[in-house]
Amino acid sequence: MPSAQYLRSLPAVDHVLRHPLLLSVTTVFPRQQIVAWIRQSVDACRAAILAGEELDAKAATDFVVHQVLKFSQIEDGRRQQPVINATGILLHTNLGRAPLAARAVERMKESSGYANVEMNLQTGKRNKRGERVCELLRQLTGAEDAAVVNNCAAATMLVLQTLAAGKEVIVSRGQLVEIGGGFRLPEVFSASGAMLTEIGTTNRTYLGDYQDAITENTGAIIRVHRSNFFQGGFVTEPDIADLVALGLERNVPVVDDVGSGCMQDLTTFGLREPTVPDSVAAGADLTLFSGDKLFGGPQAGIIVGKSQWIEALRQNPMMRALRVDKMTLAAVEATAEIHMAGTTSDEIPLTQMMSRTTDELRRNSETLRNCMSVPEQFVVETVECISEVGGGSVPGSQIPGYGLRITGHAIQEVAIQLRCGKPAVLCRINDDAVLLDIRTVNADQLEILAERLSSALAGSVAAPSSPLEGRSE
Ligand SMILES: *Cc1c(COP(=O)(O)O)cnc(C)c1O
Repeated sequence: MPSAQYLRSLPAVDHVLRHPLLLSVTTVFPRQQIVAWIRQSVDACRAAILAGEELDAKAATDFVVHQVLKFSQIEDGRRQQPVINATGILLHTNLGRAPLAARAVERMKESSGYANVEMNLQTGKRNKRGERVCELLRQLTGAEDAAVVNNCAAATMLVLQTLAAGKEVIVSRGQLVEIGGGFRLPEVFSASGAMLTEIGTTNRTYLGDYQDAITENTGAIIRVHRSNFFQGGFVTEPDIADLVALGLERNVPVVDDVGSGCMQDLTTFGLREPTVPDSVAAGADLTLFSGDKLFGGPQAGIIVGKSQWIEALRQNPMMRALRVDKMTLAAVEATAEIHMAGTTSDEIPLTQMMSRTTDELRRNSETLRNCMSVPEQFVVETVECISEVGGGSVPGSQIPGYGLRITGHAIQEVAIQLRCGKPAVLCRINDDAVLLDIRTVNADQLEILAERLSSALAGSVAAPSSPLEGRSE
């Protein structure tokens, strides 16, 4: 058949739109988007025909339908949706870091309509945005004042720019880290207009190095938590109290970027992480941390410290550009209340996960195993596994727990099926095994997880290789 005939029999958009296999797609995605996918696929058919391929009407329609299904699945994979985190990484940056407390979610919901963001309802007068949040953070950390911005990167920028634009900021070479997502400290310094004075060596920096580096043009000394990187062995650096004493003597403000926002001693969980109240008590002029790491709240950059400096931050016009919305304020307020009430292990999901005992986790793993159906091609065992805090906090942390290890048939396919189903399940793959760490799974998710596992195992027996290329991208 000549190619002109194939070209004439290419499917019309309306014809493809009515295809029974696309029924579910047309109810979920906007028509305009589906039409664009159809046009793109029909164009691909046309190009193939012009290149000499023999595509009759049926083959072309099948191809277009298949492509639209594929595009819609990739699109669905991009759509933000809930995920069951069975990776055992408590603060998973790709999964939105800290899950919020129910109280925080409730308060965000309450604030989603009109809310008194800048008004005291009793007096009817305007008050400062986030005034109560700052008051709670003040009480919680022992600081004189507080401010909330978009994230800790914003906090670092704002602080450096306010204290040290056009001036030098002293930082230990061992702390000039890249935190992830392209957040490299030296670049943040230059973006803020501050000049970096690197001191010491990668592994050892002494108080004397700081002393020697201070000049008339020093704007600040900053200490930065190494985030997801750690050093051991032949390592020295002065602690924050020594830096504070030096700063006082030489009249230079000391900034402590503690990063993770740890509010309480974590030694009961076998973890060591500097806390915000300790940094404040040691006398840091400003202490910075993320809202969505160990604090267990929404994405935010929280700055606490001396009123003189917090006031200077508020006067910086950049503050207006970096401020947070009413939803974030509501969630930070609720999370701070929980910390104040001392009910973190009942209310903050992160603390709850850290608190789970190995016995409880072994029981949950066994419950899960007993609830799922396992085709003969697979072996499912309850195994010990090691969770980590992740998200650039408590580097090197290892929290022992339990989970399930699945071995057997088409393990990669099992992981894909878990990830692509509803709700999505994220697991680890280790040595040809799927590993589900149960520490990051709530007890009320076990039933649905068992269902998802059963169908993923059955599905990967039925379809040993993924029918849709590109799905694992
Ligand atoms: C995580 C982290 C940051 C960045 O925080 P974001 O809230 O993600 O912007 C900055 N500094 C330290 C030490 C961190 O650990």
